[in-house]
Amino acid sequence: MNLKRGNLIMVKIFIDAGHGGSDSGAIGNGLKEKEINLAIALDLREILNHKYKGHAIQLSRTTDQFLSLKQRTDIANQWKADYLISIHINAGGGEGFESFTYSGNYANKRKTNQLRGFIHDAIIKETGFMDRGKKEANFHMLRESRMSAILTESGFIDYQRDANMLKQKAFIHRIALGHAKGLATALGLRRKMGIKLGPVISILLKKGIHFGHLLKNIIRQLTVYWN
Ligand SMILES: [Zn+2]
Repeated sequence: MNLKRGNLIMVKIFIDAGHGGSDSGAIGNGLKEKEINLAIALDLREILNHKYKGHAIQLSRTTDQFLSLKQRTDIANQWKADYLISIHINAGGGEGFESFTYSGNYANKRKTNQLRGFIHDAIIKETGFMDRGKKEANFHMLRESRMSAILTESGFIDYQRDANMLKQKAFIHRIALGHAKGLATALGLRRKMGIKLGPVISILLKKGIHFGHLLKNIIRQLTVYWN
């Protein structure tokens, strides 16, 4: 599943912001689904690249652009992504969050549902959305992608309370953060060094350890990290 580059394992993540261009997706409460999907996708990429490493990311779109479903899965398949995540907002009566994997029979179904579990749970935890459950469906993005895939539906655009949350940039960030944390757990992404070393240095300084010792500890930390 993983692509080895040197001694680093690269996980290729394909992020699909649903709809776009002439296809606005669901509309409600002054919101357009295509815009929210894109905002979440761009923020998700930002968080993954800022906090984690060992992965490569490709987005289906980074602007308000129309792409057919086939174009999207073609790009992911040609790129040989290891994992596909398709981001959507729900509509049609209801509230809360649900996720989908492919309902058919396929080789890595168990693994796909296992990975989805991490992502689903992380999003519920981060957003506090009502949990509508882990579901399966015969969606193009899930069926035609050759790698494990998940489709997320983060709230209902036509439900006032969900829509009020979706209007807040801070809440969009929470959705993206939930997606990022879940992906990191599911795909085993490593945290970036800077975040880990900060606390180590401050603890060493507080303990009054002299500089030579501090350097040795930093080097030891780096060695552990790189091994
Ligand atoms: Zn949609």
